[in-house]
Amino acid sequence: MTDPLSIAVCGCGPAGLAAACFLHDAGHRVRLLERVPEPRPIGAGLMLQPAGLAALGRIGALDAALAYGQPIDGLYARSAPSGRVVFDLSYAAVDPALHGLAIHRAAIFHALWQAVAARRIPIESGVEIIALSAGTDDRPCPVTKDGRRLDAADLVVDATGSGSALRPLGGSPVRPRPYAYGAVWATVPAAGLRPDRLEQRFRSAREMIGLLPVGRVPGDDTPKAILFWSLKVADHPALLAAGIEPWRRRVLDLWPEIAPVIAGIADPAQLTLARYAQTTLRRPYGDRIAFIGDAAHSTSPQLGAGVTMAMLDGAALADALAGAATIPEALAAYAARRRRHVRFYQRMSALLTPAFQSDNRWIGGLRDLTFHPSTRLPWLKRRMMQTFAGLSIGPFAAATPASLAGVSDRISDRVLDVG
Ligand SMILES: Cc1cc2nc3c(=O)[nH]c(=O)nc-3n(C[C@H](O)[C@H](O)[C@H](O)COP(=O)(O)OP(=O)(O)OC[C@H]3O[C@@H](n4cnc5c(N)ncnc54)[C@H](O)[C@@H]3O)c2cc1C
Repeated sequence: MTDPLSIAVCGCGPAGLAAACFLHDAGHRVRLLERVPEPRPIGAGLMLQPAGLAALGRIGALDAALAYGQPIDGLYARSAPSGRVVFDLSYAAVDPALHGLAIHRAAIFHALWQAVAARRIPIESGVEIIALSAGTDDRPCPVTKDGRRLDAADLVVDATGSGSALRPLGGSPVRPRPYAYGAVWATVPAAGLRPDRLEQRFRSAREMIGLLPVGRVPGDDTPKAILFWSLKVADHPALLAAGIEPWRRRVLDLWPEIAPVIAGIADPAQLTLARYAQTTLRRPYGDRIAFIGDAAHSTSPQLGAGVTMAMLDGAALADALAGAATIPEALAAYAARRRRHVRFYQRMSALLTPAFQSDNRWIGGLRDLTFHPSTRLPWLKRRMMQTFAGLSIGPFAAATPASLAGVSDRISDRVLDVG
């Protein structure tokens, strides 16, 4: 489409902020609408996959992310009580120059927020969008929870996350399927941890602790890590009621070496609960509305791909608008561009999650026996890591290390700087 559109992007999470930049750069008039009065990062740190880093590079936010985040070379996990290695995977299995980036929410928010501010994209905050109503020329007006009709737009982008109230406008009914297991998390000092890998410990599939070094947060130069402890959402009140000692004993029984890392956690209230649900919109668009990020597809974080996928959605939407003659044509093209990638990750995530978080007594044992030996097969190891890196399918499936080289080189420079 050659004429610029007026686009209202609802939600200032990673999906909304990145999409606003992609759409602005494609020449559209973009405004952001956000529920909370002062937009801020919510939640733990996260992994950005190489495909997500390439997306950040396209909107000029990569350097800001690299300035805070921690380059990650691979994943390592052991099982208790056997001590058996469950996985020891490295991005180098795909290409020695490839890395992920672990980053605190505050830092990725800061990087994306700066990208939005540099483009002078207007933001209206304190508006919770719960519906659309038809304005003049059938252009949709976002409607707030307190009944205000905001200015009409040619296109609305729903980036309001997994709790989206606008999903019914996508046409196909969706029932989010909450996972019984969620996680509590806390920001902890990274002291003593290997900085270059996500490390986990398991006891069957019922207990899991993970530590992800995430680099720095804005305003604090001490390296941080995010601690994740898997638990059933229904057991969270009991965790709070029991006080910190029983939790500390279970953690140290699983991973004794991290006593200094958890020393500052004195109260279970310092552990924040995160829940997840599996939701996939069959059609991520409706009449003049596109769904992106968790609003279109939410899942458990086992594959560490949610933010990467969310940013790729925004890029695909901007590209689809550029290549189509009408809005309906562009929305259908957007859905087509993302379909295989999204379905693949949603299915992989649904398939793998029970191996790491479930009550099934056998599944953890089976995982411990099969995962690591299977990665001795170089082809399988490479495929596993390609999947984790977001490169096995989707917009970067055909990417050669050379085409991601700009990203990899800049991360490698950073590693050298740090070293
Ligand atoms: C514990 C945990 C660990 C995770 N780890 C990773 C990881 O390692 N890597 C990874 O890539 N992903 C990870 N994820 C998933 C990732 O957090 C999500 O996929 C990602 O945040 C989705 O971004 P989003 O912008 O679509 O939604 P959100 O981040 O949920 O942002 C939605 C935004 O919309 C606003 N909003 C909500 N409702 C409204 C409304 N009605 N009107 C206006 N504004 C509204 C919200 O305030 C928020 O600003 C993890 C998730 C959890 C819970």
